[in-house]
Amino acid sequence: MSGSRRVVIIGGGVIGRCAAYSLLQRGHSVVVLDRGAEGGCSFGNAGMVVPSHLIPLAAPGVIGKGLRWMFDAESPFRIKPRLSVELLSWIWKFARAATPARVGKAVPVLRDLSLESRRLFVEMAGAEDFDFGLVQKGLLMLCKSAEVLHEEAELAATANANGVPAEVLDAGSVRKLDPAIEMEVMGGVYFPQDCHLSPRRFLEGLDRTIRRGGGEILDDVEVAGIEGKGRRVARAIAADGRAFEGDEFVLAGGSWSPSLARGLAVNIPMQAGKGYSITVENPAALPGLCSILCEAKIAVTPMSGALRFAGTMEIAGLDGSVSARRVMGMRKAVPRYFPQFEPSDLEGQEVWSGLRPCSPDGLPYIGRFRAYDNLTAATGHAMLGLSLGPVTGALVADLLSGDKPRIDLTALSPDRYA
Ligand SMILES: Cc1cc2nc3c(=O)[nH]c(=O)nc-3n(C[C@H](O)[C@H](O)[C@H](O)COP(=O)(O)OP(=O)(O)OC[C@H]3O[C@@H](n4cnc5c(N)ncnc54)[C@H](O)[C@@H]3O)c2cc1C
Repeated sequence: MSGSRRVVIIGGGVIGRCAAYSLLQRGHSVVVLDRGAEGGCSFGNAGMVVPSHLIPLAAPGVIGKGLRWMFDAESPFRIKPRLSVELLSWIWKFARAATPARVGKAVPVLRDLSLESRRLFVEMAGAEDFDFGLVQKGLLMLCKSAEVLHEEAELAATANANGVPAEVLDAGSVRKLDPAIEMEVMGGVYFPQDCHLSPRRFLEGLDRTIRRGGGEILDDVEVAGIEGKGRRVARAIAADGRAFEGDEFVLAGGSWSPSLARGLAVNIPMQAGKGYSITVENPAALPGLCSILCEAKIAVTPMSGALRFAGTMEIAGLDGSVSARRVMGMRKAVPRYFPQFEPSDLEGQEVWSGLRPCSPDGLPYIGRFRAYDNLTAATGHAMLGLSLGPVTGALVADLLSGDKPRIDLTALSPDRYA
């Protein structure tokens, strides 16, 4: 298949916009449908580009931690007990994926996706009028306890063995790497290839570039259904009755992708993983590097002079409400690592919440659905949607242009649970 196609992209978060960006570059025409992208997961996230994150969420020990923390209202990871067939089936699939053998297979897939995406970020940052504050200084994993430092050192060894450089550091070396902020830590791991950026500036830059290139982004379209006819998707229907037809359709609805695809012959198990962020405009100290406070599972990112703290993972359904107790857990944890901060420094700002689209095996769904000739999945990126945005867009463009995908998509098949 070749030639220019009219592509309807459902969902205008980072994944939908990256798909539109790459498709336009390859000569296709695009329309992105969203009911208001700021309601998704892409604007308030931690803005990290993380080749360091080689291990999928579904890893040995994670379920145990989720169960242990189930009744701790301030814990960073939790599965909210609910009677839901979808949730029980997702947990079962998650547990089956969380084995050393399955994780071992996922690592090179995530590595290849991350490194190609990082390369594309650097390329995009060089484009005219597309400054999104990309900082290529690396990421620090900060540890307070010997036990967690040991766990992180093991992950560093896995990263090094897979071609992603990582360096285990004592407390003094950590402080030397980022003298702009005081730290009370036992040590850490440094991943020099990781980067950070401003997600809002990235999304706004994509928006400008897409519109300038002749693409449409409609942010007042509540998609009520996607109509299939035989082996083809015919149209997306909006709640107000508008119909959007195209040669190709891309499903990029984040955590809402399964409900958007209801009625089609597809099955993409997904649970929303809620997280929060708090952005402090005039922080007590501004680090030069982004970091992760390992025990507390909080990501810390300098962003255009402000400092963003992001964390928690709560599997609690399609519910964006903010839990004051869990936010309190974040506020209390930060000063334990950064003594220049008080819990009150993280009070008074609006708390942003976002729903990460989590597949059970921690790998995204990218590829054409078997049941349709013109429907492609680009969803399920969990904690890595920003990092993997550019490569996902490029892969969608490879597929829809009839080219061999630049990365083998077998493990990412949207039919792996069909
Ligand atoms: C606290 C936190 C920190 C994070 N930090 C990072 C990070 O540092 N690095 C990283 O790589 N990732 C990070 N992530 C994950 C990342 O934010 C997500 O993986 C990513 O935003 C998912 O993008 P998406 O486009 O798939 O989904 P979304 O951004 O949710 O987009 C889906 C879109 O679909 C639209 N939509 C849904 N239903 C409909 C409908 N019926 N009609 C029309 N439109 C509809 C929504 O409005 C939304 O705009 C973080 C997430 C959280 C919560």
